[in-house]
Amino acid sequence: MTHADYLANHFSADFGIFRYGMQGQVCRCGDDSNAMLVQEQHFDPRFACLGNVPAARRGHFLVALFFEVLIDQVMYTHFREWYGAFVGRRRPIKLKGNCPTGCGHHIHPSTIFFEARMWASGPTAASAGRPPIEYGAILPEATELAREQVAELCRTRLLRLDPSKVWARCEPHLPSVGP
Ligand SMILES: [Zn+2]
Repeated sequence: MTHADYLANHFSADFGIFRYGMQGQVCRCGDDSNAMLVQEQHFDPRFACLGNVPAARRGHFLVALFFEVLIDQVMYTHFREWYGAFVGRRRPIKLKGNCPTGCGHHIHPSTIFFEARMWASGPTAASAGRPPIEYGAILPEATELAREQVAELCRTRLLRLDPSKVWARCEPHLPSVGP
């Protein structure tokens, strides 16, 4: 499966599956009613979130989630004037720390990959023997797709915003590929 196929056909369903695994255990401290919140804890094996996403799609899911969060954070932080138009009628995905204190802070999307490594091979018994989630091979295509997505957004919804400026803010945060 290409990552383009994944985004078009599976990501939204997999995000629903992931959220279902939270069983309602998600922060209600702040006013995040317009966002779909994911917290660091939800990658932990005690939640069924990641485990319920079909194994063959987990790598794609993590990479898609990474770029969703990254582009949202970049738009909010650096291009606030366009943020309303960027979000439109969607509920954006936000990544935060755990309650009671961490949920006041957005966390870097690369945490997604760190947590996924812990999920598969962390020190707890629950993660022993889990197969690692492979995502490195997906990154080159996904990165190119994200860059195209930014260009498309600027062309259609974020008028007068230069896509190269947005991408320049994303680039320093991209995960490195390879050794
Ligand atoms: Zn909270």
